[in-house]
Amino acid sequence: MMPAIFTIDVEDWFHILEVAGTPPLEDWDRLPSRVEANFRRFLNLCDTAGVKVTCFFLGWVAARFPHLVREAAARGHEIASHGYAHRLIYHQSPAEFFEDARRTRLLLEDLGGAPVQGYRGAGFSVTEETPWFFEELVNAGYEYDSTLFPAPRGHGGLKGGRYAPYRIETPSGPLVEFPITVTEIWGKPRCFFGGGYLRLFPYALVRRMAQMVLEEGRPVIFYAHPREIDPDHPRLAMNLHRRFKSYVGLRGMEGKIRKIFRDFPITGFACFRAEYGDSIQ
Ligand SMILES: [Zn+2]
Repeated sequence: MMPAIFTIDVEDWFHILEVAGTPPLEDWDRLPSRVEANFRRFLNLCDTAGVKVTCFFLGWVAARFPHLVREAAARGHEIASHGYAHRLIYHQSPAEFFEDARRTRLLLEDLGGAPVQGYRGAGFSVTEETPWFFEELVNAGYEYDSTLFPAPRGHGGLKGGRYAPYRIETPSGPLVEFPITVTEIWGKPRCFFGGGYLRLFPYALVRRMAQMVLEEGRPVIFYAHPREIDPDHPRLAMNLHRRFKSYVGLRGMEGKIRKIFRDFPITGFACFRAEYGDSIQ
């Protein structure tokens, strides 16, 4: 059976995008960080289940806690990039995006001691407004991306996007895109496999939907954040709608992740590409 790809976006509890209480970059150093303890708990969950995953590190986290990158690499996980400052892609110019992505790759390669191949942008924020995205990513030295969200969502999302992994030829060279996994329910693409979607839906439904995707011959891409296995982390100020999406289901998340690790063959992107890369069209 096609494996599931599990990914962790390594960022802190105050990196929720575009809510009233999101602090500016200048304040991040002063906030009580919880990413170190939470990410280590996540690595322990992986070790207990014997799984290796892909860790998309925020460059800011890597710079502040460089030992976390070294530890994840030493424990056999793939190190990949979540950009440096967690800015939405469509809020950056191509030049700003290139610099942020390149800087983060160089930092992570220095810390992890291995080439960094993969990128995931903050908030899955590739839209019709960012046609330069893939080319700039190749220019910044990346081989694959997992940012596209082929369904409508808060921060962009790309309507009509492809569902299965695919190759892109850019003027600067090739790239492989792994869109965030969706499956069609009543003709509409829906995600069940990460963040608020994974926290909201009952596990039996998540498992059934994941099995359906795997039976279609697509990998399922799960994603989670260290704060999501820490139900008591501080809350940011935000409206009711966003509060629900940001904090629903925190108490059940760790248990769901344990079940995902139990019920599916789990791998990271680099291992998946080594085994199945040739079949991606
Ligand atoms: Zn993020």
